[in-house]
Amino acid sequence: MKDLKISHVYMNYHTLQGETKALEDISFSVSDGEFISIVGPSGCGKSTILNIIAKILIPSKGEVLVDNKSLEETSLKIGYMFQKDQLFEWLTVWDNVLLGLKIQHKVNEENKSKIIKLLTDYNLWDFKNHYPNQLSGGMRQRVALIRTLALDPSILLLDEPFSALDYQSRLNASDEIFKIIKHENKTAIIVTHDIAEAMSI
Ligand code: ADP
Ligand code: MG
Repeated sequence: MKDLKISHVYMNYHTLQGETKALEDISFSVSDGEFISIVGPSGCGKSTILNIIAKILIPSKGEVLVDNKSLEETSLKIGYMFQKDQLFEWLTVWDNVLLGLKIQHKVNEENKSKIIKLLTDYNLWDFKNHYPNQLSGGMRQRVALIRTLALDPSILLLDEPFSALDYQSRLNASDEIFKIIKHENKTAIIVTHDIAEAMSI
């Protein structure tokens, strides 16, 4: 990336129960290498806006621009992290971080050494043969982040990635994750309902 611009975005959901206005005239932009957070209570539309940026949802109105081009015209590589880390319990740390590359048929020596470096830099190399249930919640989130970074996304979207962790682990885990994102120089948007978490960024 590239600069991301969200321009006058509206999103209405239609269900049998009626219409929900999830987003109304949302505009903001994120510059290359910037790390921003969006804070708001549950149900205010945070996941909706991330899903629109990730092209999972199409906005009812408005647009998302990447370097002034529409999202459809560009190939923005999205890294998405959720509250649940989505690690596979029956795979080791190593196999988990390699999984994205395997699916995309991109396992090669260069990518492998990149993963080795990430695991080493972020204190997970000694745990490469461990299974997710042998790790702390914070370590699991780091593994999930490294799996995402292995695919070299242009932008990282983090949807309340720490809310499943207890308070103390959350402080440590968020600190570690933010350091990694800064250090890897990634453009990132984190959404959270936790003001303290947003402040700590
Ligand atoms: P947040 O992530 O901030 O908690 P969401 O983006 O998930 O908020 O939801 C915003 C609003 O849109 C809420 O009122 C929610 O109930 C509604 N909503 C979200 N997804 C759907 C959906 N698939 N169908 C209908 N309504 C939805
Ligand atoms: Mg949400």
